[in-house]
Amino acid sequence: MSITQDSVVSFHYTVATAEGEHVDKSEEGQPLVYMHGHGQIVPGLESAMAGHAVGEHIDTTVAPAEAYGEYEEALDLQVPLEVFPVAVRAQITPGFSFKAVHPTEAEREVVFTVHGLEADKAFVSGNHPLAGKTLQFSIDVVAVRAASAEELSHGHVHGPGGHHHH
Ligand code: ZN
Repeated sequence: MSITQDSVVSFHYTVATAEGEHVDKSEEGQPLVYMHGHGQIVPGLESAMAGHAVGEHIDTTVAPAEAYGEYEEALDLQVPLEVFPVAVRAQITPGFSFKAVHPTEAEREVVFTVHGLEADKAFVSGNHPLAGKTLQFSIDVVAVRAASAEELSHGHVHGPGGHHHH
């Protein structure tokens, strides 16, 4: 069968930037598994997968807007530590993330991650590390099956590569 809405798809991938810098790849024997049409992989890759079948190879280039978003300079900020509640301040170390309203779009919430600290301020970014990057995906489709009724009602894949419920 070919990949359509609600297909459960297993695939191996490698991804690099348009400049050829390696970004990520699936582990040998551990393909990525997702349910098609549910926004579980980046939009540009999901549309490229549609209609393909087991054994097919797909090379696709995905623009930032269809991957991890455009880079937004407004989201790289220096924040005085005093704006954080005293109880939280000790946790403000590189890697700490928190949600806050977008600096110029009041209706948008953004996840910011702390990248560095100076005496009285934190350097934070709301940009995904791959924001602004055009990505080149190389895909091998390993398995395609229909989702079970239970998977459909949960909105995610069960079993190997998916969710395990107790
Ligand atoms: Zn479930």
